[in-house]
Amino acid sequence: MDLGISGKKAIVCAASKGLGKGCATALAKEGVQVTICARNEQLLATTAQEIEQISGNKVLYVVADITTETGRDSLLQACPDPDILVNNAGGPPPGDFHDWRQKEWFDALNANMFSAIEMIRRTIDTMTNRGFGRILNITSSTVKAPIAELGLSNGARCGLTGFIAGLARQHVKQNVTVNNLLPGFFDTDRGRAIVAKQAQERNIDIKLYQQQFLANLCAGRMGTIEEFGATCAFLCSHYAGYISGQNILIDGGLYPGTF
Ligand code: NAD
Repeated sequence: MDLGISGKKAIVCAASKGLGKGCATALAKEGVQVTICARNEQLLATTAQEIEQISGNKVLYVVADITTETGRDSLLQACPDPDILVNNAGGPPPGDFHDWRQKEWFDALNANMFSAIEMIRRTIDTMTNRGFGRILNITSSTVKAPIAELGLSNGARCGLTGFIAGLARQHVKQNVTVNNLLPGFFDTDRGRAIVAKQAQERNIDIKLYQQQFLANLCAGRMGTIEEFGATCAFLCSHYAGYISGQNILIDGGLYPGTF
């Protein structure tokens, strides 16, 4: 299926690996001109090259910390008026809320709420004027089903979700949609690290714990970045102009609610 976005320009934040990379790859395969960022140049350059090989399209990369003003400036200098914006950043560390003070909370809010809002603020008006825009925020299934030790993530991402709920309805008339993608457990460094931490805390051998953990997932496995990227590409497509303000769970059926 041709998604009708060939030639559009996209920024995918935090995309040298994991879910961001999955999104960037799927968009590039659709003929989108993708600009990716991350903080580590070596991995970022390798990833850009890899996506170019897979998609046959040129991929720009910018070494930038998306949680800083300087990082966002550099990224927007390289791609000043994207048609598509995929917001993403590293997730906050798991832990016990007794240990989190102002710094930990402000860091989480900055990375997983403010940075996305700021990228949207700086790009949405051009999208609106042009009559096409697709904005996706990578949040987490913990927005719907919190995991206690991921309290910083639960809190910061719910803040972003609340803000997006208000914003998303305001621009659909101009064909600009804003949605959130909520990953469950994905086979990425972050996904694997969370499982390893749980094993460590329970004092169980990591391999054994991983086996039990996967068996307990409805799908019996973690999701792949290709599956995540394909959903992203569809929501950025010409055909997704009537979907806005949604929180789309991609969790292999893990969320137990009816709705
Ligand atoms: P990952 O660790 O595999 O990849 C993270 C990517 O973000 C890397 O490319 C890294 O270089 C980049 N990055 C991190 N901090 C950055 C910064 N400040 N500026 C620029 N780039 C930065 O992680 P992932 O699994 O792809 O997760 C992506 C997001 O989704 C995270 O916020 C994570 O918490 C969230 N999430 C992941 C899962 C999962 O199962 N993988 C589940 C729920 C939520």
